[in-house]
This record gives sequence, structure tokens and C-alpha cells, in this order.
Amino acid sequence: ATPMSIMTATGRGAQAGVLIKNAEALERFAKVDTLIVDKTGTLTVGKPELQAVLAASEFDEDDILMLAASLERGSEHPLADAIVRGAEARDIKLQKATDFDAVTGKGVRGKVDGKSVALGNAKLLEDIEVDAGPLADEADSRRDQGETVMFVVVDGKAAGLICVADPVKETTAEALKALHKAGLQVIMATGDNARTAKAVAEKLGIDDIRADVLPENKAALVKELQEQGCRVAMAGDGVNDAPALAQADVGIAMGTGADVAIESAGFTLVKGDLVGIVKARTLAVATMRNIK
Ligand code: ADP
Ligand code: MG
Repeated sequence: ATPMSIMTATGRGAQAGVLIKNAEALERFAKVDTLIVDKTGTLTVGKPELQAVLAASEFDEDDILMLAASLERGSEHPLADAIVRGAEARDIKLQKATDFDAVTGKGVRGKVDGKSVALGNAKLLEDIEVDAGPLADEADSRRDQGETVMFVVVDGKAAGLICVADPVKETTAEALKALHKAGLQVIMATGDNARTAKAVAEKLGIDDIRADVLPENKAALVKELQEQGCRVAMAGDGVNDAPALAQADVGIAMGTGADVAIESAGFTLVKGDLVGIVKARTLAVATMRNIK
């Protein structure tokens, strides 16, 4: 690529909110055939809202929310934020948590009000050997609506569910159509549950879903596809996504996301929606065409 054509593309990109790190990123993106997108914060707004708290018998809804939110004050995860805001909206007074521990891709644990509390997904329940009991079916039907469901465990007992929903960004569906039309294979990767992932993906016309992906396995997924001969772009926003962005032929960071994600990426999308990916791809292909 000539320095001139790269400069032109970089300038046009910047005007459209697409920040291009270097010539190499642009050259590589023109050759990409597979795009992996993280669900939360990439396809969706990334600001989940509390939908419901369900208590198992012997437990109280507000109590469960108090314990969960008290614990989540120590977490920076968007799900934690939804729970804390949800508790505030219900005027629930939070307590101090101790022994806080974040389990990446699974949830959080700690002590609140003299009780040991764990909050997270099915993998977390497995780790601590707690059976979801009757809450399991309830969780599934909420997930089929596209909600993310977290189990709350109090002193070793499944005490309740916290359900949140993260709306899909307005621009996502149309941008996906354009990406498909550009000949890209689109894969959704998420740490979320398979049922939740499927409910969201179906609405968007994504048929390749990798759910229950632990953060460290996102990079492995990129590598696996590369070994199959795919040229992979990966779009994500989280701290967790950084290794996958670095492994990909092209990493695409959402500008609204974590700094490490941005550092690992060849492209940064200022507005942080998929429209930026469509623009970046068009720019890359046009630049490379002019050079040949
Ligand atoms: P994503 O791919 O959607 O960004 P993560 O890898 O961050 O997902 O998290 C995967 C799952 O782990 C979440 O869907 C949630 O069930 C659980 N989890 C992670 N962090 C937390 C937290 N702070 N509180 C509750 N659950 C959590
Ligand atoms: Mg994420």
C-alpha cells in the first residue's frame, strides 16, 4: 500500500469515527472472511437493566436483591451495575461486603450481613457444588426471552434468580445485513448462556453462535478458526476480549469499551456500533483495490 492511499483511508476513517492503527490493519481487514462479535456491549447496548428478582421458597426478593447488590458494588461488570441500580430503584439499603472475589466469566462471591453469598451463572453453581433445584426451569424460560439470568446462592443454598435484559442496539440488525452481504461469515461469541444467546441471535439472523465461552477461550476460538483457514476479525469491548482481539488477524475495539481492548486492536470504533465495522471494511477493500 502506498503511504498516500493509507493516509487518505485513515483520514476518511477518522471522519466516520473509525480509527485505524496502521497500514497493516487496513491491509489485513480487506482479506478478512470471518467476523466474530461479542454479544454484550457490541451487539447490544451494553447497559443491562434489572427485569425481575425471583426468590426460592424460604427466601425474600428484596433480601436477595440486597445481598446481590451489596456484593456487586465491588464489581465493574455491566451486570453488576444493573443489579446495583435495580436495588437503588427499589430503595433497598445496601450493606458492606467483605471477602469479595470476582470469578472471571462466572460471577462474584463474598460475605454480606454474616452470610456467604455467591452470584453468577451455572458454571459458578457447578464450581461451588450447588444445585439450582426448581429455579433451573424458571431460569430457562427467562433465558428464552433473551434475558441473562444469574443465580443467587446464600449459605450454600440456591436462594433466587436475578434476571436482566440488555437491549440490542438500534443499528445492529441493519449493519449485520450489510456485513453478510459483503460476504462475511458472522459468529456471535458470548460468555452468556446458550438459550439467552440463541434468543438474541435469532432476532438478528445470526446462525453461528458460540455460547458459554469463557474469556480465555475467546482467543482459542479465534485461533481455531484461523487454523481452519479463516481470516478472522474479532470485535469486542471488554477487558476480557483483549487477548482475542490480539490473536485475531484484525482486532476491532468498541471505543466505548476498556482501554486494554483498544490497545489490542487494529481498529477502534468511536461510536462503538457495528456500522463502524461496515465502514471499516468498505474502506479497507477500496484502499486495497486502488493499490493493486
Ligand atoms: P460476556 O461475553 O457477555 O461479556 P462475561 O464473560 O463477562 O460475558 O460473563 C459471562 C457470564 O458470567 C455472565 O453472563 C454472568 O452470568 C456471569 N458473570 C460475570 N461477571 C458477573 C458479575 N459481576 N455478576 C454476576 N454474574 C457475572
Ligand atoms: Mg463482554
